[in-house]
Amino acid sequence: MSDFVIVDIRATTVSVPLEAPLRHAVGAHWGRFVRTIVEVETADGLVGLGEMGGGGESAEAAIVGLLTYLRGHSPFRLEELRFAICNPTASLYNNRTQLHAALEFACLDLVGKKLGVPVHDLLGGRVRDQVGFASYLFYRYGDPETGAGEVRTPDQLVEHALDLKKQHGFTSHKLKGGVFGPDYEIDCYLAVAEALPGDSFRYDPNGSLSIEESIRVADRIQGVRNDFLEDPTWGLEGMRQVRRPGLLLATNQVVVNFEQLASNMMRRAVDVILLDTTFWGGIRPCVKAAGVCETFQMPIAVHSSGELGIQLATMLHLGAVLPNLTYTADAHYHQLRDDIIVGGKMEYADGTIAVPDGPGLGVELDRDKVAEYAEEFRRLGGYPYDRDPGRPGWFPLMPNTRWADPADPVRPSDPRLA
Ligand SMILES: [Mg+2]
Repeated sequence: MSDFVIVDIRATTVSVPLEAPLRHAVGAHWGRFVRTIVEVETADGLVGLGEMGGGGESAEAAIVGLLTYLRGHSPFRLEELRFAICNPTASLYNNRTQLHAALEFACLDLVGKKLGVPVHDLLGGRVRDQVGFASYLFYRYGDPETGAGEVRTPDQLVEHALDLKKQHGFTSHKLKGGVFGPDYEIDCYLAVAEALPGDSFRYDPNGSLSIEESIRVADRIQGVRNDFLEDPTWGLEGMRQVRRPGLLLATNQVVVNFEQLASNMMRRAVDVILLDTTFWGGIRPCVKAAGVCETFQMPIAVHSSGELGIQLATMLHLGAVLPNLTYTADAHYHQLRDDIIVGGKMEYADGTIAVPDGPGLGVELDRDKVAEYAEEFRRLGGYPYDRDPGRPGWFPLMPNTRWADPADPVRPSDPRLA
């Protein structure tokens, strides 16, 4: 195995188009996802794949810069990988959690390819063959010319949800909120719930509400079949004040590491932990956290921080091995127009995606697509996640009071943006 050591790390930033610009509490995804594709090569010529959010020269340089740390490192040594680049003391001076995640994905992919087994076999073995997903409903800007694809009103949101259910078979639905005021957004949420009897629902305003607004929202949605209320307000202390019988609170914001998980176990503020393979630093930290949650009888789900096919594969392998995964996972994936993996976008069937079964992560790069979308990134550049192309100069407070106006059909090419 002595030739199974890292000899090269490459990073390529790509820009892949979305169906529409997606609005969220602190800005928007500006009609595309910018992701950095990571390739880790071993001396025996195997290449493992990873993926990280964001991109550009800084992301590429940050990833490639870690070659000096990892040259000669065996991909089998995943525990040491953590300490090689994420030593807790050194991390006071740098934060490499997300870089570690992308490299961990690639090392797991390499080990799987080396042994000829899928990643889920390296993680304890799968307990399911498909992972279920919720539809991910966003308020969206419409086409600059025609307005088509806009999601702003309750009717547009209901139509969008029905369309996604028809296309992909979703039976649970997540509304991304924090764009308009909470009373308007809950009108929208209730309209979707009424239009899809028997399905389940979750609302996520990304911590933008005050305690009082969060409680009002919790009261208003009591009659709905809610999976949970996700991050209505910010902070463990804030969530603790909102928590009440009959409605579970979920988070991907205030419990994103083991320290916070321990704190939440000792003094409960949140009921459901949404595990993100990037935020937690890899697939294996999520599996470990899921084990802690199982011990404490705390529900979990799989979170999406945006993904192309490589990251989606990490979410599928994670979802495959968690016995206590009782909720559907999140994915932005159905909002993408294309992917950079061989075979194109993975397909949903009855609201689920099949867990890849090939060696490693089970996905391969489509080199033509990578080249096409790397060129697209060079042409368009990045975009600020925490700015909104429809509201120049705007940024939110927390708790937010600077809501968008639901009566304003602004489009990103509107002359007001010039
Ligand atoms: Mg969330």
